[in-house]
Amino acid sequence: MTQPTPGTPLRLVTRLLRSEVRPHARRLAAAALCMMIGAAATAGYAWLTEPVLNRVFLDHDHTSLIVLPFLVMTLFIAKGVADYAEATLLGHVGQRIVADLQARVFSHLVRQDLTFFHGTPSGELVARLTSDANHLRAAVSTALTGLAKSVLTCVFLVAVMFYQDWALAAVSFFAFPLAVVPMAWIGRRVRRAARRTQESVGRFAAYLSEAIRGVRLIQAYVMEAHESARARALADDLFRRLTRSQRARALAGPIMEVLAGAAISVVIVYGGNQVIGGRTTPGAFFSFITALLLAYQPVKNLAGLNASLQEGLAAAERLYALLDRASLVRDPPGARALDITTGAVRFADVHFSYGPRSALAGIDLDLPAGRTTALVGPSGAGKSTIMNLIPRFYDVDQGRVTIDGQDVREVSLATLRGAIALVSQDVALFDDTVCANIAYGRPDAPMDTVRRAAESAAAHDFIMALPSGYDTVIGEGGVTLSGGQRQRLAIARAMLRDAPILLLDEATSSLDAESERLVQAALARLCRGRTVLVIAHRLSTVRAADTTVVIEGGRIIERGGHAELLARGGTYARLYARQLDDDSAPLAVATG
Ligand code: ATP
Repeated sequence: MTQPTPGTPLRLVTRLLRSEVRPHARRLAAAALCMMIGAAATAGYAWLTEPVLNRVFLDHDHTSLIVLPFLVMTLFIAKGVADYAEATLLGHVGQRIVADLQARVFSHLVRQDLTFFHGTPSGELVARLTSDANHLRAAVSTALTGLAKSVLTCVFLVAVMFYQDWALAAVSFFAFPLAVVPMAWIGRRVRRAARRTQESVGRFAAYLSEAIRGVRLIQAYVMEAHESARARALADDLFRRLTRSQRARALAGPIMEVLAGAAISVVIVYGGNQVIGGRTTPGAFFSFITALLLAYQPVKNLAGLNASLQEGLAAAERLYALLDRASLVRDPPGARALDITTGAVRFADVHFSYGPRSALAGIDLDLPAGRTTALVGPSGAGKSTIMNLIPRFYDVDQGRVTIDGQDVREVSLATLRGAIALVSQDVALFDDTVCANIAYGRPDAPMDTVRRAAESAAAHDFIMALPSGYDTVIGEGGVTLSGGQRQRLAIARAMLRDAPILLLDEATSSLDAESERLVQAALARLCRGRTVLVIAHRLSTVRAADTTVVIEGGRIIERGGHAELLARGGTYARLYARQLDDDSAPLAVATG
């Protein structure tokens, strides 16, 4: 799994600003203007306290009773309008930033090599794209925006305080530098706690998605209580981490309260003495106190916002870790398009290992154009691995895989994969209409082409019997269809793709005789005229193939036609005999 390398907060913030925030500079500038108007209006109230007290109460000035309320109303209206405009602008920017980042991360993920997906539980990825993105959203729309607003408000209020009495202002600010150290400490703790919490959310999500998918197994083995206990343990772990992070966050408020209390007390003592000694007016003193009290809330907000910001940074760190992972399988620089002349595939001395485990050791294999080659061999022999190297789901460690003489690593992935159709035993169907599932990969295919593909795949009749025909939505993974129907949809999809190379991973589960006959006939039509590599589990498939290749332990141990291999009396002959003994034994299961 791609773990984030804890970057410095500054580097993260710089990256966020440069790549996410900068594109919205104009909206942000408008929001900043609104913020300034709002902050100036707030400072305006504090400033107005002085004339209200001095002119009305001391000088008994009647005209100020008309002018001052008018000014107050103007300030309130200006602040209201500015606040609304600012909230709308910043809300838009915050949501946009997160939506764009989510889309970018997904688009990056979907291009990753299979090694990445095998090492990362899908639930964990879902958690990063949803839960981490939500934390980032909270940080961007509340913390970042509130941060700017609180800072601006404080700046204006501090200006009023210095204007009224600079000495008093200096005295009342003695406490604030003291806040920096504990705040930085809390920030670090919150970020660490947030990172761990999000890891825990990922584990929980990964577990949930696995358990929900495996619910049939859980019920069949009466493991409900066991799985509930596992879920509880994960939920408790999340609870512990969340409470720890909340405790760290909650510290910020009280620290600021104590400091603000100290500042206000000092101001009362010092300022009170100034008024009593006649060195300042009560109006200036109250204006000062108002500014100080008004500044208290934004300063307290800043402390809370710091915590949200740290959580957002932890989330950004995890999202960026996904974005920064380069796929092991990529287009080479200046990739050419694959030029298909006949569609012949060749493996030349191919070695491949999954980490330290060798899976293929020196495979030399020709798949002649327009012919069908069957792969058989015991489970774990390396058949799927061979197949996965052609569309570059993995890259070879040594040797070459070529199509019409072109190394698959030197041509563009899009043209390479565009020349290949894949029909695998675990048929992948989406919760969409039958038509969209068949036309997957060719969404613009006209309806009659889709229909012809379905007819060749012996799927048209059952599709027409569905409630809405081709427009029937088939449920997640095609749950509303039978195994044979799902396979025929996959065949129809490959028919429509009409690619010169066909990779077929035959289903091991047997269908009833009628379904089987339909699937086999459809497959035979699909294979015609293409270069086919089939992982064969059925005798009939091997018999129909032009050549059969027997794999064992990552090596080719026999090859030839059915009769030739039988006559040789080796592994193939043993597999064959075993299948004759036991009709249900697939050809690929362990050798005698
Ligand atoms: P089967 O008929 O059971 O599907 P196979 O012949 O297709 O088997 P492969 O799937 O190619 O066999 O696997 C070859 C070897 O590589 C096996 O020993 C398997 O355990 C190992 N292997 C396969 N996939 C991975 C993976 N993602 N990570 C690590 N090892 C793997």
